[in-house]
Amino acid sequence: MQISISSIRDRRGASLPFEFSLPPASLKELPGDVRALTDLEVRGEVTNTGESMLVRAEVRGRFLTACSRCLQPAEAVVDAEIRERFRRMDQRRLEEDDPFADAEEDDDVSWFRGDRIDIGEVVREHVALHLPMKPVCREDCRGLCPRCGVNWNTDTCDCTTDDVDPRLAALKAWKPEGSAGEQA
Ligand SMILES: [Zn+2]
Ligand SMILES: [Zn+2]
Repeated sequence: MQISISSIRDRRGASLPFEFSLPPASLKELPGDVRALTDLEVRGEVTNTGESMLVRAEVRGRFLTACSRCLQPAEAVVDAEIRERFRRMDQRRLEEDDPFADAEEDDDVSWFRGDRIDIGEVVREHVALHLPMKPVCREDCRGLCPRCGVNWNTDTCDCTTDDVDPRLAALKAWKPEGSAGEQA
């Protein structure tokens, strides 16, 4: 995912729009068993701010993953914003000698060489970061029974009623002597 910035390299304040559409097959290194369902759309612009090349972009895609409750397939949507400064590699030395160099902004910083900025790594990071931690197949997914593993969305089991505190179960079984039912 390379952007050639030669046209704005020497023009402070100039911007360059870019757009990428990455088919699922080209999206490697997705976390876990996540699969892309659609092209990943990356759209934005890079601006020469003088000190750096500021990349602002939107990343959108739909992914297939597993529901964190019932383990069935679940869809996850990524809609993330990127804001990243790219600085020229040869400025790195200069900045190490300048205590004020990093004081200007809190944007994330990456480095580039020559006239090409590669945003692949930044995009990958943002996708991984914006995938839901606990995806669900649907908001009211009831999940699996922790005892027998039955899918509570489609099945029922008797575990819930049995699932009482063992101390209470003992109490339930206890009958005071001489209670009804023991008359001879
Ligand atoms: Zn589910
Ligand atoms: Zn059960």
